Amino acid sequence: MEWALPVIDEKKCIACGDCVAICPTNALGLLHGKLVYRNPRNCTFCTLCEQVCLQKAVRCEFVITGYEKEG
Ligand code: SF4
Ligand code: SF4
Repeated sequence: MEWALPVIDEKKCIACGDCVAICPTNALGLLHGKLVYRNPRNCTFCTLCEQVCLQKAVRCEFVITGYEKEG
C-alpha cells in the first residue's frame, strides 16, 4: 500500500510542536528535538499540520481534487 505524507522541511522546522499538538491522529511526534512521523500510517492528510505551521516547514503537496478552488 502506498500513501502520501506531508513533507517536513528540516531546515525550516524549529520543532515547536504545534503540528504535533494539532494532529488529530497522533501521526507526528518530537524525538530528540526533531519532528518525526511517530505513526505515519495514521496520517489522513487532513492538512492541519500545514495550516498550523508558522514556519511553513510542513507541506501537503498533494491536493485532493475539490479541496482548493482554482485561480
Ligand atoms: S509546526 Fe512547523 S516548525 Fe513546529 S514542529 Fe511542526 S513543522 Fe516544525
Ligand atoms: S496531515 Fe493531518 S493527520 Fe497527517 S500529519 Fe498532518 S495533521 Fe496529522
